[in-house]
Amino acid sequence: MKASKPKASSSTTTKHNYLNLIGGHWQPAAGGATFKNRNPADTSDLVGTFPASTVKDVDAAVRAAREAFKTWRLTPAPKRAEILYRTGTLLAERKEEYARLMTREMGKVLDETRGDVQEAIDTAFYMAGEGRRMFGQTTPSELQSKFAMSVRMPVGVIGMIAPWNFPMAIPSWKLFPALVCGNACVIKPAEDTPLSTLNLVQTLMDAGLPPGVVNIVFGFGPEAGAPLVEHPGVDAVSFTGSSEVGRMVGQTAAGLFKPCSLEMGGKNAMIVMDDADLNLAVEGALWGAFGTTGQRCTATSRILLHKKIAGKFTRELVKAAEKLRVGNGLNDGVQMGPQVNQQQVETSERYIKIAREDGATLETGGKRLTGKAHANGYFFAPTIFSGVKSKMRIAQEEVFGPVVALLEFKSFEEAVEIANGISYGLSTSIYTRDVNRAYRAMRDLEAGITYVNAPTIGAEVHLPFGGVRKTGNGHREGGTTALDFYTTWKAVYVDYSERLQRAQIDTGE
Ligand code: ADP
Repeated sequence: MKASKPKASSSTTTKHNYLNLIGGHWQPAAGGATFKNRNPADTSDLVGTFPASTVKDVDAAVRAAREAFKTWRLTPAPKRAEILYRTGTLLAERKEEYARLMTREMGKVLDETRGDVQEAIDTAFYMAGEGRRMFGQTTPSELQSKFAMSVRMPVGVIGMIAPWNFPMAIPSWKLFPALVCGNACVIKPAEDTPLSTLNLVQTLMDAGLPPGVVNIVFGFGPEAGAPLVEHPGVDAVSFTGSSEVGRMVGQTAAGLFKPCSLEMGGKNAMIVMDDADLNLAVEGALWGAFGTTGQRCTATSRILLHKKIAGKFTRELVKAAEKLRVGNGLNDGVQMGPQVNQQQVETSERYIKIAREDGATLETGGKRLTGKAHANGYFFAPTIFSGVKSKMRIAQEEVFGPVVALLEFKSFEEAVEIANGISYGLSTSIYTRDVNRAYRAMRDLEAGITYVNAPTIGAEVHLPFGGVRKTGNGHREGGTTALDFYTTWKAVYVDYSERLQRAQIDTGE
């Protein structure tokens, strides 16, 4: 298949008026409704207006995807991969522009949005490589002159629902493996970050992706997300978001016998042993807890401290947190941006109240920042609670904000018990210089990810990403494991004996 030449962006009618992409055409929602996307660091800054789609738009997008699937599935995987290689190259050229737009619509600081785009670039190249692998197996048949193998087949049309915290990286984790495996896609980006997903898909189109292979419907969860899950033309669903919504998506998909990958919350523990390099642990805790303003599913939201070092660690962490420069992520020197919207700030505020009522000690922060530099945005102070007990809600429930809980323990065994004593199981970490203890932690921490001498964040695209318990439903994104969701196994038998051979019956005796 020949790739069309990269074209200038055609995704808008006017500068800030963005459209759905259906069957290769940019178009408004059938009902004409729109919603506004604003900068969370300065809500007077309008990033753009996007279609508020409904079931009609979803239906049109799924139909377009079904049509495109007919030819896309027959395009050889190495050719599909060439489009991903070009996408990776174009994204690298556009990295700075897209990172700046992402900071504007989502709030996290420029270094981090550059990292977000980089993650999409890495995923593009990694998944493009799969175009020439995507291995199946050959295995001997029990019968003579018979060949047996297993091959990966595309699933069909995939419905994708994305969150706002990694607005380009997470859609790339979904789209790129799905595409290289030969699926067509309909994606509904989060309502807070539609532009970054649009930029990703625009890049795919500029790299030569045929019309209809990827379609975007913008809009809200109940109106645009739910119909995508329910649509009979969607063969599988990939969702990243909250456990509450994930449960509904999973239940609907199960009732329709659709494979469904859910990646949801976390309450991730970092264990700091008494033999740890304390400076390194404080630096890691600061990044793990307040990077992305704590709005990562892998954020370090619990820090378990050996009682011998708890006092010193707490003092150092509080000092460092109070020095963090909070502001507009586009400004030089800013280390932490705003929360993404008013609702997230209110969630942080609610948990401050809950933690205090439960008896935790507020060491620093605990409030919205409202000074001159912060007046127009959703800024929240880096917040640390000490004296937290494992059963308190602040140690059990996901806040998704710059709020971290410090707990103390007396032994490694107790630390593991506290770390595992939650309903989530995404990421964990241990700081220690004792190699045997590090290996025991790798074995005993019940989570999809364990870091040693690093905080709970920092996943790389070629390793499996996901978790146990309420964090997920057994699937993994990233790595070759992503291929397991976006393909279905077919067993193929070729009998060249020129006679009927019956398995399990014609045993040759
Ligand atoms: P968050 O609280 O982090 O925004 P959500 O789970 O609410 O996480 O949102 C994640 C994604 O799920 C978003 O794209 C959102 O629009 C979508 N969503 C929300 N509600 C529903 C729903 N009922 N059905 C399908 N998708 C939904």
